Amino acid sequence: MTSQNSVKTLLILGASGDLTGRLLLPGLARLVSRGRAGGLTLVGAGSDPWTPDQWAERLEESFADANSQAGADGRRELKRIRGTTSYRRIDVTAAGQLAGLLAELQGPVAVYFALPPHISQLACEALDPGQVPAGTRLVMEKPFGSSEESARHLNETLAALVPEDHIHRVDHFLGKATVLNILGLRFANAFLEPVWNREHIERVEIVFDEDLALEGRARYYDGAGALRDMIQSHLLQIMALMAIEPPASVHERDLRDAVATVLRASSIKAPFAKSTRRARYTAGSIDGRKVPDYAKEDGVDASRGTETLAEVEVQIENWRWQGVPFILRSGKALGTQRKEAVVTFRPVPQLPKGFSGVASPNQLRIGFGPDTLQFDVDVNGPGDVLSLDRATLKAELSASDLLPYGEVLEGVLTGDPLLSVRADTAEDCWRILGPVLKAWDRDSAPLEEYAAGSGGPAGWLA
Ligand code: NDP
Repeated sequence: MTSQNSVKTLLILGASGDLTGRLLLPGLARLVSRGRAGGLTLVGAGSDPWTPDQWAERLEESFADANSQAGADGRRELKRIRGTTSYRRIDVTAAGQLAGLLAELQGPVAVYFALPPHISQLACEALDPGQVPAGTRLVMEKPFGSSEESARHLNETLAALVPEDHIHRVDHFLGKATVLNILGLRFANAFLEPVWNREHIERVEIVFDEDLALEGRARYYDGAGALRDMIQSHLLQIMALMAIEPPASVHERDLRDAVATVLRASSIKAPFAKSTRRARYTAGSIDGRKVPDYAKEDGVDASRGTETLAEVEVQIENWRWQGVPFILRSGKALGTQRKEAVVTFRPVPQLPKGFSGVASPNQLRIGFGPDTLQFDVDVNGPGDVLSLDRATLKAELSASDLLPYGEVLEGVLTGDPLLSVRADTAEDCWRILGPVLKAWDRDSAPLEEYAAGSGGPAGWLA
């Protein structure tokens, strides 16, 4: 169960970093300005010798948007946070430094590791269990490990420090509204459940195509690629929500048990040249904007063969889904931005003779950010009622009034791990992709090419 603001102090490690400035602080500001972080103290820490003025300036900038939209109460709360915050210079990897800071702060403390992944790992290893006060929450960013083994090792390090329900493995992609929109649609509508299975569904596609290219993020992205960056974490989570059995409640235990059960049954089958695809963009243009060849972008090591587009076919081996392909695809520099899950139903067994026109299978589309719902059906066309035509029923789903990182932080501050990836699931997501990563290292699937601004290589989902 959740409790209101169990956390008294939010300690952000990596306070001078990109994530903190661009996403965390603006997310926090919106939360604070809505009166949903009452009594919280914010402390920033980094290895740079920042002055209090530098930290205050960073807060001023990151809070500006929320401040301009807030009412008098919200502005007062933002001012209170700015007035009580401090910046601390520490090397989190040095023995005793983080522990010393934790001992000084008013608890319970949530420690947000907005650090390079290997530094987060070292920081956790530098802590002794006895140095972590009761009630401390640890918030870990993605990527969580780089393989099943390393994720397990990191889980063991964390488990020695705090209980599992005090560990938040962040997946900001799945905001609370999106999770509940999928669950509401699936489990509050009696007509869907009887057809939500292999008897009636032919395939499920989960697509996250971006029209953004590398945008100067080579340092991170060239070592990751589309498969690790998007599919390993975000898209497998969405797949699990699309496939879970009806949970008894939407509380974290029931929901995360159901998600874990689906992922345990999931795998990608060899031969990987058939079940997976990878490609890299070449020079092109998107909306009149010139995009250089990925291999020639600053900071890219072309010989690494990093994919900017990945597509995999996941099998969920259980009674409900046996034989139904779940196709997960994500990539950069594509002509059209597309973020959706598409459920394609099987065709009717027989279309009554006399109808003309194309009878296409029904498709249910759940769009992400903004969340939408579309249902494609065949109806009798205008004019000739014997001729079939396609019609789309559309609905807007509800959005959250918080930014994605505001939702993440609210879960942390109120002690609700619903949106956090559980330890076993974090390992399982690497287990699912491990064989593919190894096969790609051996070049078992060709690295194809597509021009930036196109729909991807021919023959892929589009
Ligand atoms: P940056 O490289 O921009 O920032 C890293 C921060 O870590 C800096 O503030 C740096 O401080 C601090 N730091 C490094 N070493 C130490 C140390 N020994 N002791 C104390 N502080 C240290 O990284 P990002 O902000 O981009 O990423 C942070 C995490 O968030 C990563 O895990 C990343 O994968 C994840 N993430 C990032 C996203 C993004 O858009 N940026 C999106 C999603 C996840 P200093 O400069 O003072 O050394």
